[in-house]
Amino acid sequence: MSDTSLSSVPFFRTVASLRAHISNVRRAGRSIGFVPTMGALHAGHASLIEAAARAGHFVVVSIYVNPTQFGPNEDFTAYPRSIEADAAICRDSGADAIFAPNDAEMYPPGEETRVRPGPLADRMCGRFRPGHFEGVCTVVAKLFNFVQPDVAYFGQKDAQQARILGKMVDDLGFPVRLVVCPIVREPDGLAMSSRNSYLSPTERSSALCLYHALSLGRDRLAAGEKDLAAIVRLMQEEVHRVAGVRDGHVTIDYIEINDPDSLMALTAPGKRMLLAGAIRIGRTRLIDNLLVTSD
Ligand code: AMP
Repeated sequence: MSDTSLSSVPFFRTVASLRAHISNVRRAGRSIGFVPTMGALHAGHASLIEAAARAGHFVVVSIYVNPTQFGPNEDFTAYPRSIEADAAICRDSGADAIFAPNDAEMYPPGEETRVRPGPLADRMCGRFRPGHFEGVCTVVAKLFNFVQPDVAYFGQKDAQQARILGKMVDDLGFPVRLVVCPIVREPDGLAMSSRNSYLSPTERSSALCLYHALSLGRDRLAAGEKDLAAIVRLMQEEVHRVAGVRDGHVTIDYIEINDPDSLMALTAPGKRMLLAGAIRIGRTRLIDNLLVTSD
């Protein structure tokens, strides 16, 4: 029995009710596909749900704005919440169940255990968001235990998160396979993000600067440029060039060309390169990346 249903998708607020439902589904021989989200769903999330549905799984989508992955000065309170619209997107994308727990369910009084990732979590976004990936690993580990999925779907949009969670699954032996789906973009190239709703129209135009910069880096690599430091400089300049025309508020947290496995800066072009960046536009922090491969 679901706790209720929103847009006709069974909707669970407690671990107990979710588990009871999933165990029936399993008994009926279905595999479980899982899409963890923080809600404010858009076409990027929908693509993960659709991928899970296409693969024939019973698809569980979790919607939970996880407090432990936000720093004290970050946007936890302001983070967009739109459960009715989210449920409609879940239904239209092929979800079979929504799990939307409250904080007491996810972090009951007295709980204190955390999952602490290794050095991968200190790189890239980890330098600017201390503790963020510990919060992510902790909540995803809990969710994996509650849902016990066969396959879990994540977005390449959060490349570092996907890499760290892959390591967590390997290191802790979770019996789940991770699938990483491509970044879904707006027609002009901006990576879809729940945080894009924070942007004013001027900021929205400036926000394209990151995708432009990463694309420029990819094009320089394709043209045979071997000096990665020079390409990084070019990408930094491109961010300011594109954004500067409209808005002086853009700052760069980082722009890097990294090994996609170690997330460390490459010193020379490799077969797989992760061009990744994070910028701040006013109070909004945006990330994006391009994975460049050559054989
Ligand atoms: P979030 O709700 O931001 O925690 O994201 C939930 C999942 O959706 C994560 O695995 C994200 O990587 C993924 N995701 C977010 N934005 C996109 C996008 N534009 N394209 C593909 N996946 C995305």
